Amino acid sequence: SKPVIALVGRPNVGKSTLFNRLTRTRDAIVADYPGLTRDRQYGTGRVGKEPYIVVDTGGLSGETDGVDPLMAGQVRAALDEADAVLFLVDGRQGLIPGDEVIANYVRQFDKPVQLLVNKAEGYDHDIANSEFFRLGLGEPMAISSAHGDNVAAAIDKVLELM
Ligand code: GDP
Ligand code: MG
Repeated sequence: SKPVIALVGRPNVGKSTLFNRLTRTRDAIVADYPGLTRDRQYGTGRVGKEPYIVVDTGGLSGETDGVDPLMAGQVRAALDEADAVLFLVDGRQGLIPGDEVIANYVRQFDKPVQLLVNKAEGYDHDIANSEFFRLGLGEPMAISSAHGDNVAAAIDKVLELM
């Protein structure tokens, strides 16, 4: 059966945009404000070498008490059922404390994780990636969900980590 890949990260980092590109649909709700996609959404795709099932989540705010209690249940469920995780951060905003909270949360699940620095179109990828090494999740990969840069490479990479 196909591997299940969960998309996690703070609201507004581009998870649903990536979901749509990975599944070639417009089913996920893409919004200019955080937290709209409240439920998990599943899709299948084959953008890289192998087919997969991808799970979009509403995201974790990583703010105040750490894990947003509203979102934690469905993100936990997505992480529980995932074979691998794509953890998105916003390369334009840069590293913020919420990303570290989420990194620590994701780490507890002991699943293969590929860190993706999204919104990197027009950026030098090495520079965009550099501040995110400190999340301790290995080498980040700069992508653009909106433009498609490195998206196939990202899916191939996370499947290789399994
Ligand atoms: P989610 O909350 O993590 O699901 O994020 P969305 O997919 O809804 O995207 C949030 C905002 O970021 C929207 O305005 C998207 O158009 C924008 N966005 C997503 N991916 C990219 C990208 O690769 N580059 C840029 N510049 N904007 C992006
Ligand atoms: Mg979303």
